[in-house]
Amino acid sequence: MDRKELINEINLQKWIFAKTYAKTAPHEYITRNSNPNFFDMVCELIDKEGYIKKWKDGTEYKYLKIGDYKYWHFDIILNREKIKYIYGKGYKIPENLLEIIKKRDKSCVYCHKVLEELPHAIGTPHNKATVEHTDDESVKNPEEWNVFMCCGSCNSSRQKGNNDWDTWFNSKYCKENGITKLGVAQVVKNYWKIRNKKTE
Ligand SMILES: [Zn+2]
Repeated sequence: MDRKELINEINLQKWIFAKTYAKTAPHEYITRNSNPNFFDMVCELIDKEGYIKKWKDGTEYKYLKIGDYKYWHFDIILNREKIKYIYGKGYKIPENLLEIIKKRDKSCVYCHKVLEELPHAIGTPHNKATVEHTDDESVKNPEEWNVFMCCGSCNSSRQKGNNDWDTWFNSKYCKENGITKLGVAQVVKNYWKIRNKKTE
């Protein structure tokens, strides 16, 4: 079953809204007896491909994002919660992913300027925290490894150029601001490694 078929099948299940958590943590669930084979298949997939995260009460669960929902399971219950997105210019990013990268990248991944939130700023101030998409794939499929936070200046400069990194590092902007390929944050270097492996 590919992802598309899986999403169709998942949406055919009779999801029950968890009334007790309506206000604190809205989600819905199915129980194993409603469709044991399907239930086991989804749970196995979560165990295999999911990521571990602590829930509000400190319990750790494995989560897996499938379509517009994230899924987790325990005992005979499979839960899902709709992923909330934050919208920017021409992109959307899951709310929890934005939180993660904001915590990680407190300063610009390129010039290391300390970032400020500035949600009401007009235009893009030089120190404004902005979401940096590394490539077209990261716009479609943003994940921890392919999106960063960078400052308004670096983001504008990156958009002006093209996606070719070497061209950007050789630009007047990078030279004037002392931005070099070796000097960028480790997350960017990790991104290049992963990207290269994927395209090999
Ligand atoms: Zn910067």
